[in-house]
Amino acid sequence: MNRTIHNVLTIAGSDSGGGAGIQADLKTFSALGVYGASVVTALTAQNTHGVRSVHVPDSAFVTAQLDAVFEDIRIDAVKIGMLANADIVCAVAAALRRYRPPRVVLDTVMMSKNGHALLAPDAVAALREQLLPLAGLVTPNLDEAAALVGADAPATDEAAMRRHGEAMRAMGARAVLMKGGHLGGEESPDWLIDDTGSHRLGAARVAVTQTHGTGCTLSAAIAALSTQRPDWLSAVTDAKAYLVDALRESVRLQVGTGVGPLHH
Ligand code: PLP
Repeated sequence: MNRTIHNVLTIAGSDSGGGAGIQADLKTFSALGVYGASVVTALTAQNTHGVRSVHVPDSAFVTAQLDAVFEDIRIDAVKIGMLANADIVCAVAAALRRYRPPRVVLDTVMMSKNGHALLAPDAVAALREQLLPLAGLVTPNLDEAAALVGADAPATDEAAMRRHGEAMRAMGARAVLMKGGHLGGEESPDWLIDDTGSHRLGAARVAVTQTHGTGCTLSAAIAALSTQRPDWLSAVTDAKAYLVDALRESVRLQVGTGVGPLHH
């Protein structure tokens, strides 16, 4: 029997090199068997060496894209990535309030690996106040979590990761996936904190250098799988397994001479 395909929307920035952002999201959606729609919040001129420049459309144009999609296409899950500035954060929050999609994964993108700002520093407050309370699951790395909870420094151990995750739940996020990839060490444990408690998700570090778009891919995979799993814990567990495969398969690609992308 043919099962109906779910529709998933990514709201994110474009990466001309194809490794991160909208392009990584749509490749992930296809690989995981869902139909992908996309609302583009920013265009980046980018390759495997980093972001060269960013062009941000008017927030009214982002709203026009959101309305065009939501008025016509049933959306079963949303992934949110790069939002560029506070006006776009507010436009996305307004659309989520208006159309109420059932599952929302918020990847709190702030900075590219080579240090280019993907969110204006003065937009962090809007992200915290407008979007956190509308997200089903938030997926910050350690730096992003520290910025959102107003901590002096990013977590350096798992106890602090859990504290920051709890603080984000207190700010209205229903579930938080604290990504421990930047902790260093043999393992890169993540912690999922939701209304059933705290869950440690360990995984051996994959020893590859091609990691461009890792965060984008994980949040896109969670959104795609959330349409096919009963809860965040199973969606996140299976999304992490997908990410490990995509990282391992990246060695088959010859894309650029910098930090290369994953293979979906
Ligand atoms: N470019 C865009 C459009 C992104 O959305 C992101 C991450 O979310 C990046 C670049 C950063 O990619 P990375 O830090 O994995 O190289």
